[in-house]
Amino acid sequence: MYNKGTNAHDLLEVGRMIKEYLEVPKIAEYDVLVAGGGVAGVAAALTASRAGCKTLLMEKSILLGGLATNGLINYIEPLCDGRGRKIIGGVCEELLRFSIKYGYDTVPGPWKDAAEGKRENINPELLTDSNRQNPPRYVTRFSPYIFAMSLTGFLKEHGTDLLFDTLACKPVMDQGACQGVIVENKSGRQYYKAKIVIDATGDSDLLYRAGVPTETTGNWFSFWGRVMDMESMEAALGDRKIEKGVRPFNIGSNLYGKGHPEGMKKLDGTDVRDITEYVIEGHRRTVELIQNDNRFERDIVMLPFMPQFRTTRRIIGDYELTEQDQYKHFDDSIGAICDFTKRDIVYEVPYRCLYNSKFSNLLTAGRSVSAAGWAWDVTRVIPPAILTGQAAGQAAAMAVKMSKDLTEIPIEQLQQALADTGVMIHF
Ligand SMILES: Cc1cc2nc3c(=O)[nH]c(=O)nc-3n(C[C@H](O)[C@H](O)[C@H](O)COP(=O)(O)OP(=O)(O)OC[C@H]3O[C@@H](n4cnc5c(N)ncnc54)[C@H](O)[C@@H]3O)c2cc1C
Repeated sequence: MYNKGTNAHDLLEVGRMIKEYLEVPKIAEYDVLVAGGGVAGVAAALTASRAGCKTLLMEKSILLGGLATNGLINYIEPLCDGRGRKIIGGVCEELLRFSIKYGYDTVPGPWKDAAEGKRENINPELLTDSNRQNPPRYVTRFSPYIFAMSLTGFLKEHGTDLLFDTLACKPVMDQGACQGVIVENKSGRQYYKAKIVIDATGDSDLLYRAGVPTETTGNWFSFWGRVMDMESMEAALGDRKIEKGVRPFNIGSNLYGKGHPEGMKKLDGTDVRDITEYVIEGHRRTVELIQNDNRFERDIVMLPFMPQFRTTRRIIGDYELTEQDQYKHFDDSIGAICDFTKRDIVYEVPYRCLYNSKFSNLLTAGRSVSAAGWAWDVTRVIPPAILTGQAAGQAAAMAVKMSKDLTEIPIEQLQQALADTGVMIHF
């Protein structure tokens, strides 16, 4: 059956499939197009804009920050090695500072000066006999919504073009090169042309659809929200600390699966049925949790507006980082990162983790870079996600300026540009 649709859509039904023929308006052309406005996408867009590229950042929700804000993961894991030495600087440290510029922070005392840009590493004078061996780590909580709103203005100031409520749907490929991206939003289907595309969707949506090999994995059910009640308000008033006014609750599992609902399979973040099951179960359990409380003495004040899945789909790039790569030196390192669960463990991230060289102008950043097993967990948290975002933005800008493929840019120049902002390339 051939069905003449609206002026832009024609549909052909073939058995159980529909073939869709589209005429999509070309809206604009960019040097760099970043899909996904999580912390990685923000870092990528910011860096490409700073390097003078005409940059577009598209985000499917109406808030920047991704899991860190919309997903209520408002805790930046360590930027240090656990011995008082900063490992991750650059845009990551800049965004840490920015995350607490207008809202509360929980930076430990010995790191406060570093967070204010007054010193590089921990302040040893503020260590005590009991924590000198194992100093507090360079971490902070932040207000997710204040951070997200500040990011919007920050990117605008840097000249990044923003598109909210816009789903990046389809890369338009000519062999291994991406010509641009088809999106869907309230204006309908639109086409944005770009020289370089950075997939920071967290789920490799575009790279997967472009044919880049990927790995998908299941997720434990974690459902974190925030409740405000008499107890939390008293704590806030008592200590004069607003962050104590709301308390986190988790009606799912921890990082290692403890608390995962009995009988529920691991959830696939690239499957709409699993995402829907996540929402239904999360809402059901949250209502169950509070239904017997005095309804005048508490309220649910924050809910995740994106599924809190840690690892969904990542690319298989030219290099796959693994746990065996701890302490390993890479000539093409784009920066050092640390393990958030253990002290002293550091990795260098090779540039090759950001691309698959069969695709000349596609990069990824954030929680979908090429890292396997535990190394995937190490690279996905906020500081490494920002680091790979910065590196992707810088590499994209260099490729545009030099009219080269992403694999052809001089790695020493990329490293120098990153190091100039405070990134530690080799530990
Ligand atoms: C339960 C849980 C606890 C965690 N705890 C911590 C912690 O304590 N500390 C820490 O540092 N890290 C933690 N993490 C990890 C960390 O929050 C994320 O891995 C990190 O924020 C990922 O950033 P990202 O930018 O790569 O991806 P995301 O945050 O996933 O951002 C992707 C963005 O892309 C958008 N998007 C997706 N698809 C499309 C599309 N097709 N078109 C347009 N936009 C799209 C999304 O809306 C989102 O804004 C935790 C994660 C989870 C799930």
